[in-house]
Order: sequence, then structure tokens, then C-alpha cells
Amino acid sequence: MRVSIDAGRCQGHGRCFTGAPTVFGFDDLGNGVVLVTEPNGEDVALARLAEANCPEHAITVVE
Ligand code: SF4
Repeated sequence: MRVSIDAGRCQGHGRCFTGAPTVFGFDDLGNGVVLVTEPNGEDVALARLAEANCPEHAITVVE
């Protein structure tokens, strides 16, 4: 699994780093950034949940 954020789409709603703080963080502008690009264990489900819940469809999870 590989996680990425399209910075051009991200609007900084914060759902990713609020719901999955072990996978995502935020930059100086409050936009989401990926902390762990290849998550394992419980972070796998959290990454998928963040992908589903991002209102801007900025998160991509590739198996
Ligand atoms: S949930 Fe989506 S739009 Fe919001 S900070 Fe995360 S990547 Fe950006």
C-alpha cells in the first residue's frame, strides 16, 4: 500500500490528520501531508478511511 496527497486538491479541511494522526500530518498552511507513505497494521484501515472521507478526493491509496 502506498498513500499520497494531491497538494493541488487539498483544501486543509483536516479530516485526514484528525482521523488518522499516525498516517497524516499538516504543513504550515494547515494542509494535509503524508507522514507514513507505506502504512502497516492499524494504519492501513485508517489510511483507507481518510481516502474515503477526504472531501476534496485529494488522498490516493494504491495497493
Ligand atoms: S482531508 Fe483531504 S482536503 Fe482535508 S487536509 Fe486531508 S487531504 Fe487535505
